[in-house]
Amino acid sequence: PDSITVQELANRMAEKGADLVKALFKMGMPVTVNQTIDQDTAELLVTEFGHEIKRVSEADVDIRHDEDVDDAAHLKPRAPVVTIMGHVDHGKTSLLDALRGANVQAGEAGGITQHIGAYQVTTPDGSLVTFLDTPGHEAFTEMRQRGANVTDIVILVVAADDGLKPQSIEAINHAKAAGVPIIVAINKVDKESANPQRVRERLLEHELVVEEMGGDVQNVEVSALKKTGLDKLLDAIALQAEIMELKANPDRAAEGTVVEAKLDKGRGPVATILVRRGTLKVGDIFVCGAESGRVRALIDDQGKQVKEAGPSMPVEVLGLGGVPMAGDTLTVVENEARAREVAAYRQSEALKKRTVQAPVSLEGMFEALA
Ligand code: GDP
Ligand code: MG
Repeated sequence: PDSITVQELANRMAEKGADLVKALFKMGMPVTVNQTIDQDTAELLVTEFGHEIKRVSEADVDIRHDEDVDDAAHLKPRAPVVTIMGHVDHGKTSLLDALRGANVQAGEAGGITQHIGAYQVTTPDGSLVTFLDTPGHEAFTEMRQRGANVTDIVILVVAADDGLKPQSIEAINHAKAAGVPIIVAINKVDKESANPQRVRERLLEHELVVEEMGGDVQNVEVSALKKTGLDKLLDAIALQAEIMELKANPDRAAEGTVVEAKLDKGRGPVATILVRRGTLKVGDIFVCGAESGRVRALIDDQGKQVKEAGPSMPVEVLGLGGVPMAGDTLTVVENEARAREVAAYRQSEALKKRTVQAPVSLEGMFEALA
């Protein structure tokens, strides 16, 4: 870029924006910290402050995850990340609640469940499974469009009394497009009118061949209402995960994906991060989307404070400078200057994109006023 805001330049020089404004004023240029200056002026300022001029390209400033691949020797098994999809009213929410072992709708006394957008469950064989707690195809595709392929396995919930419906088929297509294996949970088998065999047959039409029919797609009959078949479903997930040999390096600076983010009245900006690799620790300095910060506290899906979170673990992170977007990547960096530099760079890039996407013409403005 051939222009830079005064603040951005100040950040990169580790100087105060106000000092740069003062210097610019003396040079006969009355500008504010948010205004841009051209490259010549920027270079003049840099030398004025006794710094060396170093031209940086995008690759120098931003973080390139693709260039930073973990050595196979450092990889350790990690829990699968599961998303539940299916037609409306087929029981996605009920199943998520049942698997979590807490019926939130009923609001049991004493059982205050934290909803942070994801939670972990232990399977009968003792392994962990991470569930993304935001069912829905939009969340899945939106995250994917943003380059965040966090889901390892899709659970397709089909109500045994209703069969495959348009959104069931849509879910199959989403999962296929993402190359994510599907496990079918045939729900509501407690109902008189349930016909699970019909579901298995209809799945064939969409190239999902269940094991009983000689294929490799696992299906489990469940009742989210009566809480039956849940252990079998968890077993099926554990088996699928084993086949996939999901691994990550836990012994490195953490990297994660924002699953949910909000501005909390008491706690400030809060984001649920699904750790993808490395271990996120209290005190870590990070950049998250266009925000930077330092981990002030980590809170798990039970509402308990934890000191660290490893691969596939979802945690609420406190200590963000602002609210990031779902799908953003959190990356731990070496120091605050680096975090601020990357965040400032991304903010200016986002600003540029916005101006390009939504050009405000003067005529348009006058028309709007007329
Ligand atoms: P979602 O729209 O897919 O999230 O579906 P919900 O979880 O909200 O469930 C829709 C309705 O189906 C609710 O009235 C549930 O109580 C009911 N339901 C969910 N699972 C079962 C089940 O296993 N058996 C029966 N009989 N009803 C269920
Ligand atoms: Mg629901």
